[in-house]
Amino acid sequence: METIDLHAEAWEGIRNSYENNRLAHAYVIVGSPRGNALQFSESFLKLLYCSATEKPCNECTNCRLIESHKHADTLWIEPQSKARQIKADDVRGLVNRMTQTSFEGGWKAGILVSAECMNTNSANVLLKTLEEPPKKTLLLLITDSPQALLPTIISRCQKIVLAEGKAVGKNTLWEAPLMELLRELPATSGLDASRLAGKLKAILDTVKAEITESIEEELGGNDEALDESKLKETLEARIKARLKEVQSEVFRVMLDWYRDILMLVSRVDTEHLIFPNDQNILKEQAKEHTQSSALQAIQVVEGMSRRLDRNIPAVQIFDEAFRKLVR
Ligand SMILES: [Zn+2]
Repeated sequence: METIDLHAEAWEGIRNSYENNRLAHAYVIVGSPRGNALQFSESFLKLLYCSATEKPCNECTNCRLIESHKHADTLWIEPQSKARQIKADDVRGLVNRMTQTSFEGGWKAGILVSAECMNTNSANVLLKTLEEPPKKTLLLLITDSPQALLPTIISRCQKIVLAEGKAVGKNTLWEAPLMELLRELPATSGLDASRLAGKLKAILDTVKAEITESIEEELGGNDEALDESKLKETLEARIKARLKEVQSEVFRVMLDWYRDILMLVSRVDTEHLIFPNDQNILKEQAKEHTQSSALQAIQVVEGMSRRLDRNIPAVQIFDEAFRKLVR
């Protein structure tokens, strides 16, 4: 119910802005990148390009080109399958296209699916455009993890929240146990480090079971007749990809935790903490750190996610990292 309301409300807002010539240059659309946020973005684009009087008609050539993501004045980019990253070169290509004249003499649009998969370089390329957007251009950043986007990007976009649906709430399964684990940091010995790594393995195992179940459901409901081996292959690839997404989010949360510790050690105002509710625990942990050891811890966590990209098993990475973080 709520989903529909949010959707309808957001749609009304966009339609109004469009009719009154008051569209923003960039929007973050929060929802499922394969579901509601994708649909919403397509409708949004149809509004701009549809050639009928009653827009969007869903039937004209332009509407159909939008739907197949082949409209010449729109460019869609998404993470590369293996590393799950949106590369800086892709963003550069998109930005270049947006600064060229449109084919139809109207709008030019760039769409980033799973925009949270931009790395720092990609995000910086995009930031330049966001600071000085060319006229009649529209950027849509589709994401189910807006918290993973740089605040500098978010602040330059208008945010449309479609649903706190399953995709958006997917963190709940691991976030609470992970936070518990972070509150137990730092490990006090190598043995303690292994204990924490074991806890994390249990969390990731639960996540994997949940992902497997939901993907099996998705594939089961698919009309395409897939043979047994093809199905297994698809299943495994999707599980791996989604598990990797979760793992990198886990790293991100952990990184934020140590950023907070660094902030406390550096005596920055506590109002900027990422986890203000854990202030007291963070302060306790910060006592064990100097500025340079907190910085080092951040580097360890950053190193973890680089190693994950090299396909080293997450549990091994965590085990080694927790050992390095022993105080
Ligand atoms: Zn149309």
